Amino acid sequence: MKYYILFGPPGAGKGTHAGAVAEKYNLKHLSTGELLRNEIAAGTELGKKAKSLIEAGSLVPDEVVEGIIESAFDTIRGVDGFLLDGFPRTIAQGEALDRILAKRGEKVDAVIAIMIPDEIVKERIAGRAKVEGRADDANEEVIQNRIRTYHELTEPLIAFYKEAGKYHEAVCYPGTIEENRAKVLALVDSIQ
Ligand code: ADP
Repeated sequence: MKYYILFGPPGAGKGTHAGAVAEKYNLKHLSTGELLRNEIAAGTELGKKAKSLIEAGSLVPDEVVEGIIESAFDTIRGVDGFLLDGFPRTIAQGEALDRILAKRGEKVDAVIAIMIPDEIVKERIAGRAKVEGRADDANEEVIQNRIRTYHELTEPLIAFYKEAGKYHEAVCYPGTIEENRAKVLALVDSIQ
């Protein structure tokens, strides 16, 4: 099995390009944000716990997302691997992922980072708010908190994966969605 991580700041286009990458390599796309939003919509206990944190632009506890990911690895069959989107988001989650995979005799194969300049992040999220109607996209303070959280807690993973020799980056600004998607696919091709 292949284990790829789609990495990048909020609004970089991870969700926009994930489908094409997953389809090309027969991977299951696992977006922790999307899975958490499904839990909220279904009104589960987990969803109730996650709701206020997500709406404030804060991270949900590491154990919650680690549990979601592990149970997906346990149950999903019929694919050649996984494309993790939005996970790991902290060094602790990165270490937990290594442990979860080691138990299965597996490892992270590569990190595919989608990078856009900081000043574009807000613009992209504001644009998405109009289309997708996500509560955490609609409020300036919440967006600011997510950007701060990314810099403080998530960005250190870049060094973590560079050290492991697994970090690959596509700069996805400027350009159209199609041009950037082609760039991401070319990057994934180059690391096969
Ligand atoms: P974006 O596309 O803006 O990066 P996501 O859909 O990936 O947003 O995530 C939305 C929210 O879900 C995050 O702001 C956070 O509250 C929660 N979330 C998603 N993944 C994780 C994770 N790995 N750890 C903690 N919280 C997470």
